[in-house]
Amino acid sequence: MASGSDIGILIVEDEPPIRRLLRNTLGVQNYRVIEAADGREGLSQLAAARPDLILLDLGLPDMDGLDFIRAVRRGSPVPILVLSSRDDEKGKVAALDLGADDYVTKPFGAEELVARIRTALRHRLQAEGVRPAFRSGDLTVDLARRLVTLRGATLHLSPKEYDILAQLVRHAGKVLTHRHLMKEVWGGETEVQYLRVYIRQLRQKIEADPERPRHILTEPGVGYRLTAAQ
Ligand code: CA
Repeated sequence: MASGSDIGILIVEDEPPIRRLLRNTLGVQNYRVIEAADGREGLSQLAAARPDLILLDLGLPDMDGLDFIRAVRRGSPVPILVLSSRDDEKGKVAALDLGADDYVTKPFGAEELVARIRTALRHRLQAEGVRPAFRSGDLTVDLARRLVTLRGATLHLSPKEYDILAQLVRHAGKVLTHRHLMKEVWGGETEVQYLRVYIRQLRQKIEADPERPRHILTEPGVGYRLTAAQ
């Protein structure tokens, strides 16, 4: 409930029992799990499924895990958490040097793994210059956990509503043009009228008086602005 099923985690691991363990652990947390049994499949899933984080076993059958990290980092800043064996200090250091974010040592506990995942997601947002939790009046948005609350109660937003709000939070206080929002949320394949419908729905959920919004302000003819943190 807290994590939101739109955070995708790609597991690159050749041992089925460990993959199953990871799948169950992450599934309980509501993460969307994508699996790959070797490096090649991992790279193609990275392109196809656009995960938010990669869990990587360094000992892969078809390629060196370090080469996998190199290949990922050529095109993507996605957080990489390495699953390493107890005695592989050199591998851990090399992985971090190549741009992995952190590692967990096998065998690991579920709580430790989930905590490391949350931390890696949060650090990535900070690296992108986004504060991990946004608060303005009675509204809070935790981008790392995809959690929106109003007066302390969890709000249930549709994926598009959340994506719009997340864009506004990332640029809180700044006006975002219709075009920017349509590009970031729909990939440009939509119309302003459609965006307005979603903004109206979002306001119904987060504004005390949707006719006189205090959070999502309309900039006539331009776009929308989220009131910055107070
Ligand atoms: Ca392995």
